[in-house]
Amino acid sequence: MSFYTQILITLFIIFASEAKFLPKKCNSCKALLGDDLIKEIASYENVKNEIFKYVLEGDFKSKTYDELEKFVDKFGARPSGSQVLEDSIDYMIQLTREEEINDIVTEELEVPHWIRGTEKITMLEPRVKEIDLLGLGRSVTTPPEGITAEVVVVKNFEELSELSNKDVDGKIVLYDPIFTSYGETVVYRTQGAARAAEKGAVASLVRSIAPFSINSPHTGSQTYNENFEKIPAAAISLEDADLLRRIYNRGEKIVLNMTMSSTYESKTSRNTIIDLKGRDNPEKLVIVSGHIDSWDVGQGAMDDGGGLFVSWAAPVIMKRLNLRPKRTVRSIFWTAEELGLIGAYAYEEKHRNESHNINFIMESDEGTFTPLGLIVAGTQKARCIIAEILKLFKSINASTLVESDSPGSDISVIIRNGIPGASLHNANERYFWFHHTEGDTMNVESPEELDLCTAFWTAVTYIIADISVDIPR
Ligand SMILES: [Zn+2]
Repeated sequence: MSFYTQILITLFIIFASEAKFLPKKCNSCKALLGDDLIKEIASYENVKNEIFKYVLEGDFKSKTYDELEKFVDKFGARPSGSQVLEDSIDYMIQLTREEEINDIVTEELEVPHWIRGTEKITMLEPRVKEIDLLGLGRSVTTPPEGITAEVVVVKNFEELSELSNKDVDGKIVLYDPIFTSYGETVVYRTQGAARAAEKGAVASLVRSIAPFSINSPHTGSQTYNENFEKIPAAAISLEDADLLRRIYNRGEKIVLNMTMSSTYESKTSRNTIIDLKGRDNPEKLVIVSGHIDSWDVGQGAMDDGGGLFVSWAAPVIMKRLNLRPKRTVRSIFWTAEELGLIGAYAYEEKHRNESHNINFIMESDEGTFTPLGLIVAGTQKARCIIAEILKLFKSINASTLVESDSPGSDISVIIRNGIPGASLHNANERYFWFHHTEGDTMNVESPEELDLCTAFWTAVTYIIADISVDIPR
């Protein structure tokens, strides 16, 4: 399958609707699960309390934050294909070995290595103004003197298609969709350049995919259509996009000079797989995960340092507390998520013939703010089991089950094969303020919220890995 097709599937998946678990359905859960299983799940209260005590008040208090802080301060941004990413992977392996967990393997794969160079946009007409920008992943370069062209502003693809090719030919297209949800709006970043090139545009700009801004452009991945010319693609801030829109609406001519340089090659990176072997069914897997790579801007503390460290902590805490579940708990640190789930696709392909062993797969990649519950894909019975487990987390208000056909980013590649899974549902209203910007730093993270996420993530994982029934498909 071409990478372009994969991206389209991913986008389709992201579009899939999310819905809160309705109480009506919960009533039918009782019949589906039966009294014995409900009782069994409730009996994990003590283990949950043990984990909570250890993380919220005991030796692990603030540990997730402290380790994340050391990691982020040491490595900073960890772009796909970079040496710093590989060094950070080695560091995480060493950190895990220090916990006397030695079932660690890495799996090599080819990843894109796109390096941002000079980036500059100057508005020349109707007045001179510098426009802040961030090139999008894989963007091609401009000639050294840049591209100077008139701007046409469109709200969406429909508006673009209504324009004649003559209206777009030789111009810079600016998409200025208003952020609704990430899934709905991000298509203008991922496909904007490809669609504009079809119409003969010479470059493509997008209003950053974010609900809030202090003049910060947000980068992200994008994909070209191989049948059309590859044109330079960048994001500009909400403020500048709105300025250009206002000028455009007044019928004034906007001319920009846009200069971008970058290099692009392939490198080798690694997925990291850490196993805490199950005591009865070691072949069966409950996976927790986060991605270790980040964008080149910011420090990758939130995206996805937080998710990486709560998923690192789960097997570590079980090991420290001598909690060995029936099934294996596998922690995966995905590589090269940001340039198109590259690590996840490689893992799925390599492990396809053993995918029947994945009992449940989890990922945290949408923030580690206060946990609220899980976003769950699976059959009705699978969701009923998870909903019953989530009842154990009422004390921290993390009992909500949100239904989605495709939770998470990396794990969507595995879930689309019918494997049940979940991503962390958290109070992440501010997530897209910082996402893919220079603002993704340790200042976004909180020790208390991370402790809650770690305690919740570890306890949920332990219970799913240990209960008498598999999560059904
Ligand atoms: Zn991420």
